[in-house]
Amino acid sequence: MPETHNFLSQLVGSFAVPAAENPTVAMVEAAFAHHGIDARYINCEVAPADLGAAVRGAKAMGWLGFNCSIPHKIAVIAHLDSLAESAATIGAVNCVVRRQGRLVGENTDGKGFVESLRTLADPKGKTFIVFGAGGAARAVAVESALAGASAITIVNRDPARGRELVALINDKTPARGDFVAWDKTYRAAEDADILINATSIGLFPDVEGRLDLDLASLRPAMIVADVIPNPPRTLLIREAQARGCRTLDGLGMLVNQGVIGVKHWTGVDVEPGVMRRRLVALFGA
Ligand code: NDP
Repeated sequence: MPETHNFLSQLVGSFAVPAAENPTVAMVEAAFAHHGIDARYINCEVAPADLGAAVRGAKAMGWLGFNCSIPHKIAVIAHLDSLAESAATIGAVNCVVRRQGRLVGENTDGKGFVESLRTLADPKGKTFIVFGAGGAARAVAVESALAGASAITIVNRDPARGRELVALINDKTPARGDFVAWDKTYRAAEDADILINATSIGLFPDVEGRLDLDLASLRPAMIVADVIPNPPRTLLIREAQARGCRTLDGLGMLVNQGVIGVKHWTGVDVEPGVMRRRLVALFGA
């Protein structure tokens, strides 16, 4: 008798990797194997026009849920039954969970980042600088604000996108949001506690991509984080370490959003180290 499997899927692969293997599939399947979870995680590429049909198909086949990535994170909302609170605030969904036969949209990107940050510091009362105003920046900024950040400065090239995120922070979270147009070299304020690259600068193959940031404004008391998972040791991370800052790479966020996703789908608390080791095998340390 063949085994029965519950199928999970991310609808589109999102990360550029030198290997043919999809990193999220590799990471989640490693956790399933380690914990003996009888489920599979598969990757499906879905064209935007077919998104509704794909979601109905996943529901019809009884999938536990799925991840979705660019370009589906916003568009998928129209096909779901409801949204969890932070997904509604962020306005994007990266993780869908079947609950009592209904598909609920969650956003685990920002939660994954905050989990990673907590290994170094409590976000409560801290002052943040976030570069970027896209999907990753929205998730990181909103979850950091909901976790108690006191002030968040959004530094972005496109002022309209940057201001929209600042308005979201000010209207929907207890934190104070400010916008700085990124049209010249940015100098971090002396009282900043946590600085985060949430742009795509530095993502493979742009591995020498450099933020237009005055490195002399980084102080050893700061935590510097990068959302880029590949390569884990981005130029920003290396330069911040050289200045004595504590750092967080993008693998932590990727692993933690995976841990949260698997918990939503299966109820199992998986061992993050298993997922991280699988990613390190793909991306290098
Ligand atoms: P988006 O396309 O939504 O946003 C990209 C952001 O980067 C925008 O703010 C854009 O600015 C900015 N940007 C890109 N290139 C430049 C540049 N040359 N100079 C200045 N700003 C630039 O992408 P996402 O937010 O979804 O993803 C961003 C990164 O986050 C990706 O590299 C992805 O790998 C990573 N990510 C990591 C996750 C993890 O778990 N570790 C999870 C999700 C994403 P502008 O608005 O001006 O165009």
